[in-house]
Amino acid sequence: TPEYKIVMLGSGGVGKSMLTTKYINGTFSEEYDPTIEDSYRKQCKVDGQTCMLEILDTAGQEEYAAMRDYQIRSGDCFVIVYSVTDYASYQEAEMIAARIPKIKEMQHVPMVLVGNKCDVVDRDVPTRNGISLARKICSGFYEASARENYNVEKVFEQCVRRIKTY
Ligand code: GDP
Ligand code: MG
Repeated sequence: TPEYKIVMLGSGGVGKSMLTTKYINGTFSEEYDPTIEDSYRKQCKVDGQTCMLEILDTAGQEEYAAMRDYQIRSGDCFVIVYSVTDYASYQEAEMIAARIPKIKEMQHVPMVLVGNKCDVVDRDVPTRNGISLARKICSGFYEASARENYNVEKVFEQCVRRIKTY
């Protein structure tokens, strides 16, 4: 079975860990532990084909930039997460998305942009912002909610499809 490495990126607190654990084992926590950084494996079937996903959930500050670059070089697809409740996290997503192709030294990198926490009514980032950023960086796009398990599986399936088409 083919193996694909997916790297979760985005500002602290946007829901990278909860999207990951919701997908891996269905769990969600209301508590926030900013230090969790782990990698997970899950077999999945997309469009009739079985593959193994290794998902790296990152947490880290800028002092680990060199480490982050190493993780980016080894990734096959990047899930760039922002929170629809936090405009600064959207701006950070834009900066991350611009950096990845440079670090990988590739023009086209498989990426999926995720506007998480779409269950929250009082939002700060309109859907159209996500759509326009995704168009600009040539990525997939979903609004999602790790809390409500909305579009979580679709994000990871989209990763596999993007890896295969690039
Ligand atoms: P990370 O720093 O990006 O890994 O963020 P976490 O996954 O740890 O989540 C940060 C906080 O946001 C936690 O308190 C979570 O419970 C909360 N959270 C994560 N995803 C969602 C979501 O989809 N909806 C809501 N309302 N809260 C979420
Ligand atoms: Mg985390």
